[in-house]
Amino acid sequence: MIIDIHGHYTTAPPALEAWRNRQVQAMDTPAQQPKVSELSIQDDDIKETIEANQLAKMLERGIDAQIFSPRASFMAHHIGDFSVSSVWSSICNELIHRVTQLYPGRFIGGGMLPQSPGVATETCVPELEKCITEYGFVTMNLNPDPSGGHWTSPPLTDRYWYPIYEKLVEYDIPAMIHVSTSCNACFHTTGAHYLNADTTAFMQCLHGDLFRDFPTLRFIIPHGGGAAPYHWGRFRGLTQVIPLDNVLFASEMIGAVRGIDPQTGYHFDDTKRYIEAAELDAAQKYKIFEGNARRVYPGLNNLI
Ligand SMILES: [Zn+2]
Repeated sequence: MIIDIHGHYTTAPPALEAWRNRQVQAMDTPAQQPKVSELSIQDDDIKETIEANQLAKMLERGIDAQIFSPRASFMAHHIGDFSVSSVWSSICNELIHRVTQLYPGRFIGGGMLPQSPGVATETCVPELEKCITEYGFVTMNLNPDPSGGHWTSPPLTDRYWYPIYEKLVEYDIPAMIHVSTSCNACFHTTGAHYLNADTTAFMQCLHGDLFRDFPTLRFIIPHGGGAAPYHWGRFRGLTQVIPLDNVLFASEMIGAVRGIDPQTGYHFDDTKRYIEAAELDAAQKYKIFEGNARRVYPGLNNLI
C-alpha cells in the first residue's frame, strides 16, 4: 500500500473562499460577519472537486490513500482574533471530515487548529479533541508561526505549546509542523516561508529538550525537511542523524507547485517516482511508503 501523508484540500469548492472573504472583510465588525449557515457546499460539489483533481491523480499515480487536511495557505492564523480563527477552523475541518466520509479508506483526515498570535494554546484543545474523537482524524497541523512570517511565538520547545502536546500525546496523534500564508513581504509563502519554517522547526527540536518531557510526541516536518537534507554536515555536526525510520512518503498533491515539469514530462508533485528510483531495497521502500506512516499515525491502522 502507498500512503501519501501530505495532501490539502486546495481545490475546495469556491463557496468556501467566498465565505472566508466575507469573514475577513467583516472581521472588525462582528455583527456583520457571515453566519456559518450561510455557507452551502453540497456533496456533489465535494465530489466534483475531488474526483477531477486529487482522486484522479492518486489513481493515475498508484497512491492508495492520502492524509488530507485543510488548505494550509488558507489557515491564515494571523487574520483576525481567536474567534475568527475558531469559526474558520471549524468550517474547514468539518469539510475535511465530509471528504473522508465520502471516500472512506481513500482520504484520511488531518485537521487545522484555531491558533491566533499571542493567544494561549489551551484555546485550541476543544477543536483538537473534536477532530480526533468525533471526526476520527489521525493528525493535526500545528503552525509554529501563527503571526504569518513575523515569528512572534516562542519556539516549539517552549511550555507555551505544552497544552497542545499534552493532548497529542494523550490521543497518540502526531502533528505536522506547517505554517500558513506569509504576511511578511520578505518571505514568499510557499517558496521561502514554508521552507524556512521547516528548517526552523527542525533546529528548534534539535536544540531543545522537548522530547525529554514528551518522549512519545511525534512531529512531521514536511516539504522535504526544509534545508536539513541539503546541509547534512551542518546538522550532523550539531548533533544527530535522521534514520530511514523517520522518513515518510508525501506529495503535497495538489500542492504548492501545479503543472508539469517541461524537462521531465512529470507533474512537479509526482514525488513517488523519486522513492521508487532511490537505491533502497524493498523493505526500506516499504518503510517509506507505508510502514513508517502506520507507526507515526497509529490511527491509520483502524482506517486502512
Ligand atoms: Zn502542506
